[in-house]
Amino acid sequence: MLRGPAKLAGMSVIDEILAANEVYSRTHELRRLTPRPERKLAVLTCMDTRLSIRTLGLKTGDAHIIRNAGGIVTDDSLRSLLVSHYLLGTEEFMVINHTDCGLMHTTEQDLRARIQERAGTAAVAPAFFYAFQDLDRNVREQMQKLRTHPWVPKEVSVRGFVYDVSSGRLREIGEA
Ligand SMILES: [Zn+2]
Repeated sequence: MLRGPAKLAGMSVIDEILAANEVYSRTHELRRLTPRPERKLAVLTCMDTRLSIRTLGLKTGDAHIIRNAGGIVTDDSLRSLLVSHYLLGTEEFMVINHTDCGLMHTTEQDLRARIQERAGTAAVAPAFFYAFQDLDRNVREQMQKLRTHPWVPKEVSVRGFVYDVSSGRLREIGEA
C-alpha cells in the first residue's frame, strides 16, 4: 500500500494518479452524482491551472466545465455546449478568459513557426491556435459567436468574464 508523498523511483505522475485513484475508489463519494449539472450551468474556460471550480465556488456536480487553450468557442467546444444544453439541461453559459494567458503572449504565425522549429518537421497542423492580443475583445468575440449561433436559444443566458489571476476576481465583459 502507498502511504504519504513518497515517490518511487521511476514513477510517473500518471502512476501516482493511478495510486490515488485506488484510494479514492474505496469510498467513491461522488457516486450519487447524475450526468445533469445540478446548477444548470456550463462554463467554457481556459485550461490554465489557476482557474478551477474552487475559484468559482462550485462543487463537483454543479456545472459542466469545458476547457481548451484560451477558453475559445471552437467547433468542438460549441459541440460540448450544445450537448450540455440540449441533452443535459444547462440554461446558462459562462465564458471565462484570464489575464496572463499563454495565448496572449504569442501570435498565430509565431506559434506555428516555433512549434515547427522545435519539432523539426512540417506536419498537418491545427487550422488556428486562436492566439489573441486584446483580452476583453477576445471574450466579446466568444460571446458573439455563441449569441449569434442559430442553435443557441435566446433563453440561454450567455455572459463573458475575465478572471484576474493576481486578484482572483472575475470581471464581467459587456456587449462592446
Ligand atoms: Zn489561458
